[in-house]
Amino acid sequence: MPLLVMKFGGTSVATLDRIRRAAKRVGREVAAGYDVIVIVSAMSGETNKLVGYVEETSQLYDAREYDAVVSSGEQVTAGLMALTLQEMDVPARSWQGWQVPLKTTNAHAAARIVEIPTDNIMAKFGEGMKVAVVAGFQGLGPDGRVTTLGRGGSDTTAVAFAAAFAAERCDIYTDVDGVYTTDPRITDKARKLDRIAFEEMLELASLGAKVLQTRSVELAMRYYVRLRVLSSFEEQSDEAGTLICAEEDIVESKAVNGVAASREEAKMTLISVADRPGIAAAIFGPLSEAGVNVDMIVQNISEEGRTDMTFSCPINQVARAEKALGEAKSAGDLNFREILADTNVAKISVVGIGMRSQSGVAAKMFKTLSDEGVNIKVIATSEIKISVLIDRKYTELAVQALHDAFELEKA
Ligand code: ADP
Ligand code: ASP
Ligand code: MG
Repeated sequence: MPLLVMKFGGTSVATLDRIRRAAKRVGREVAAGYDVIVIVSAMSGETNKLVGYVEETSQLYDAREYDAVVSSGEQVTAGLMALTLQEMDVPARSWQGWQVPLKTTNAHAAARIVEIPTDNIMAKFGEGMKVAVVAGFQGLGPDGRVTTLGRGGSDTTAVAFAAAFAAERCDIYTDVDGVYTTDPRITDKARKLDRIAFEEMLELASLGAKVLQTRSVELAMRYYVRLRVLSSFEEQSDEAGTLICAEEDIVESKAVNGVAASREEAKMTLISVADRPGIAAAIFGPLSEAGVNVDMIVQNISEEGRTDMTFSCPINQVARAEKALGEAKSAGDLNFREILADTNVAKISVVGIGMRSQSGVAAKMFKTLSDEGVNIKVIATSEIKISVLIDRKYTELAVQALHDAFELEKA
C-alpha cells in the first residue's frame, strides 16, 4: 500500500469540529487507497498553557518533569482523532511516542529523534488498520522517560515518520496555505511561494518563521522527504500549498526570498571582562554546558585590557545564562563587572540563496532600516542570510520596510 504522512497542527485540531474536518481529509486519502500515518499537535493554546504551569511552578525547572507535563496535550488529540476516525468507520488507533517507541536522545525539552521502529505500526496496517494516529512532539528517552522535541516539534515527528516509513509525501496542514515571503500576520503583502529551497526554508525556520520546525526541514533535506505545507481550512488541489524542494528545482531565485522575525530573543552584555586569550572560552564554555543556545556574538574594542562582550540567546534562557555566568565568576574562572540583559529586542533576517551571487544586500538592508529610524544593535551574516538585532517594538515596521525594499510581493 502507498503510505502518506499527514500532520495537523494546533489550530487544525483546536476543536472537536476541526478534528472532524481533519479526519474527513484523512478519510479521503484512505478512500484513495493510502495507508495514513497522522501526526497530531496539541489543541492550539494547550502547550502554551502547560508550559506556563511549569514556569509558574519552577523557574529553573527539571526538564524531565517539564516533558511529563507538556507532552500531555498531544496524548489527548491523538486519542480524539482516532475516535473520530472510528466514528467514520475508518479503522484507526492512536500511539503515544513511547508506544511506537519513538526513541530520542536524553536532551529533555529539546530531544532529537534517534530511531523509529516501523514493525509495530506496519503489523497493524497488515491487519487492516488504515490510519495510525501518532502523538507528535513526544518520544522516549534512554532514561525510560518521556521526552519532547522542542516547540513546534510535531513537524519533526511528521518528517521523521515519513522518512522511516518511506512515505510518498509528508503533508503539513496548518492555518496558512503555504510558506510565505514573510509571516502573513505581519503584512498582507506577504506572498505565498509555490516552492522554496530546503536551504532557504532551513534559514527562515531557524530565524523565527515558525511555520516549520527547523529540525523537520533538516530531516526532509537529508532523507529526501517530499515535504509540503498546506492549509487545513481550504479545499485545495494536489498542487496547492508550498513544496519544499531542492535548489535545482527552482527556476530563478532573487537575492532575497524571505524575511523572518523572532521576538523571542534577548541581548546580554558582560561589562568589563579581561581581554585575554581564552576569555571567549571562559564565557561560552559554561553557557554551552548550561544548555544556553548562544546565537550572535560581538566583542567590543578593548580599553586598558578590559572589554565588553555581547551575545544573543533565546529570551527564556536568560535566567539560565545569568546563573551559569554568575557561577563561573564565583568559581574565579571569569571576571566581569556586571551582566546587562536586554529582553526587548527582536531579530530580523533576510534570506535568499541568490545572495551567494549578488552583492549589495547588506547595504540595502541597513539603509532601509536607517531610513525608518531603526537602530541596529548587533549584526550577523552567513552565506545566504543577514540578521540584525533591533528594538522589539520596531519588529513589524522593519519587516514591512524590508519586504517592500526587496520587492517580495512581486513574483
Ligand atoms: P501549527 O500549529 O499548524 O504548527 P504554527 O503556528 O506553528 O502552526 O505555524 C503556522 C504559523 O506560522 C502561521 O500562522 C504564520 O503566522 C506563521 N509564519 C511565520 N512565518 C511564516 C511564513 N514565512 N510563511 C507562513 N507562515 C509563517
Ligand atoms: N504542541 C507543541 C507545541 O506547541 C508541538 C507542536 O505543535 O508542534 O510546540
Ligand atoms: Mg507549528
